[in-house]
Amino acid sequence: MKILVPVKRVIDANVKPRVKADGSGVELANVKMAMNPFDEIAVEEAIRLKEAGKAEEIVAVSIGPQQAQETIRTALAMGADRGILIKVDETVEPLTVAKLLKGVVDEESPELVILGKQAIDDDANQTGQMLAALLGWSQGTFASKVEIDGGKAKVTREIDGGLQVVELKLPAIVTTDLRLNQPRYASLPNIMKAKKKPLDEKSAGDYGVDPAPRLKVLKTEEPEGRKAGMKVADVAELVDKLKNEAGVL
Ligand code: AMP
Repeated sequence: MKILVPVKRVIDANVKPRVKADGSGVELANVKMAMNPFDEIAVEEAIRLKEAGKAEEIVAVSIGPQQAQETIRTALAMGADRGILIKVDETVEPLTVAKLLKGVVDEESPELVILGKQAIDDDANQTGQMLAALLGWSQGTFASKVEIDGGKAKVTREIDGGLQVVELKLPAIVTTDLRLNQPRYASLPNIMKAKKKPLDEKSAGDYGVDPAPRLKVLKTEEPEGRKAGMKVADVAELVDKLKNEAGVL
């Protein structure tokens, strides 16, 4: 079985994003970038399936600028076998990503595509679902457990207030949730080895997809800062303030 893992280059989860002065988006210049955390979980799950003898090859694919190569190299250092960079310089929307991934799926014929449940930059949570629709494949989203057996995938999904188990016929789409696994760190020897693994470069045109955005971002704003706290003398004052100032009682 071949597994395709789409990996997105996003602002490092430990960096506090800053909104550009003109409100047109988030500042990306000189900001530390990294693999989307849910995609690290997806790469880890693919590697575990390979280690368990359920998969033979893992292909990591990223759509983005030339630097997205580094994100693919990280996946290769963790244990993916080869990479595909679809070079697009402008911002890509989930539908564009899904169309490009469909092109890769048509070429590569994987039996499983494991994506993150969402990219932490735009929080869209759309790409996996759109790809499943374009391919007409079944999907197991928000996965906290994935078991592959005899042409089927049993996926435990995190849903409001509990868990749901679904059985999917392969080929299928899985999107990862936080509790699926703890991704490994790439060792130094594996980082060195990853430099020699194959990495193809493609363009959106190779898949007949126009990456021009269909949505226009009107405004991006910082969340309102928190008001300073205050000390109250006693319970009576606290109740009074909750009732008359905060309006929560
Ligand atoms: P989103 O729908 O944007 O929240 O992203 C969900 C998932 O789709 C991510 O966790 C990635 O697995 C995949 N994805 C989204 N954008 C890209 C991209 N530009 N390159 C590769 N994978 C992507």
